[in-house]
Amino acid sequence: AQDLLPIINHKLDAVVPSDIRRFDKYVSQFDDVVKLTLGEPDLNTPEHIKQAAIRDIENNDSHYGPQSGKPELLQAISKYVKGVTGVDYDPASEITVTVGATEALNCSLSALLNDGDKVIVPTPVWSMYMQLVCLTGATPVEVDTSDTGFILTPEKLEEVIEREGKGVKAVMLNDPTNPTGVTYPKEVIEGLAEVIKKHHMYAISDEIYSELIYGDAKHYSLATYIPDRTIFISGLSKSHAMTGWRLGYICGPAEIMASVRKMNDFMITVVTNNVQAAAIEALTNGLDDPKEFRDIYQRRVNFMEEGLKKLGFDMALPRGAFYIFAKIPEKYQGDDVGFAKSLAKDARVGVIPGSYFGAGGAGYVRMSYASSDEVLKEALKRITKFVEAE
Ligand code: PLP
Repeated sequence: AQDLLPIINHKLDAVVPSDIRRFDKYVSQFDDVVKLTLGEPDLNTPEHIKQAAIRDIENNDSHYGPQSGKPELLQAISKYVKGVTGVDYDPASEITVTVGATEALNCSLSALLNDGDKVIVPTPVWSMYMQLVCLTGATPVEVDTSDTGFILTPEKLEEVIEREGKGVKAVMLNDPTNPTGVTYPKEVIEGLAEVIKKHHMYAISDEIYSELIYGDAKHYSLATYIPDRTIFISGLSKSHAMTGWRLGYICGPAEIMASVRKMNDFMITVVTNNVQAAAIEALTNGLDDPKEFRDIYQRRVNFMEEGLKKLGFDMALPRGAFYIFAKIPEKYQGDDVGFAKSLAKDARVGVIPGSYFGAGGAGYVRMSYASSDEVLKEALKRITKFVEAE
């Protein structure tokens, strides 16, 4: 009978490797391609943060540290997140440090969900959300937000809860949003909080792009309004150009965090010491670092927007994150995958088809402007030549 047992956890059959990475690989096969594919800042981690990690290594900080994170880092996270949400998270029981926001999401979902629970996922969104929910044995419920400006409105949330009936346990929100660059207005966050409270649900609020906000946009957090029902997730990958360091964190009410911390202990034991030392530096002496990045991204997005609009791409001005989500010109008849493939093959520019981000994304492409000025300039030049020649 042993031979008949499946060798692989069947939950893994339900998920496929990231479409984004697969398409990036497709694009990378062409010589001399300029890529706007990944959410990967071209900027480097600030020097003072790197030095903090080096000092930590030199001080022989090479032993197991306390689970959930170094007390000094938990303290720094608590102080920083209070500034974002207004909520006082107890460093000793309501915060845990994770291996990037990805592990934070995985850990929170695994701690919260049982087989068969339903999780509302507004789309288009980072495709990993759907897969992470599937891995837990729960079911993602996609909600197309393309007809409400790529925002999940409280009305829409009510509608879905009603339609789905029992078993809707949580909603995942990403604000500012990857791939659309939208930010949620205050009244929408307040309205969503009301609906979540009314239905005794939970929010998994991924606010990893909250430092990258442009123009007069402001960031609002669900945690401010429903701290007892929100699992707040963030990290340093985007704010401090630290994608490769792998540092994220989770904050939430103590009862939920007891399980989240347990899950995190089992998964990783604890995050690498010198990475935590770098994070302490980032969240104490590096609080102004994101401003510098923000100014650079703002300049780049203005440049790209102007050029793309002239070519017939319809796009809302991104208010956050570092992505442009542009509707492709009419002559391509909404075939975003075909358009992105031809653009890679014939014009040597890599972008990601919008349909990879779930319902509502078809007919769009995502372009990351976390690439250098030179890359963006060259990409726009090639896109212009491609679109005008067709
Ligand atoms: N959440 C969103 C919405 C993202 O776009 C990304 C990365 O692209 C992540 C989380 C992952 O962050 P990390 O690198 O900290 O795991």
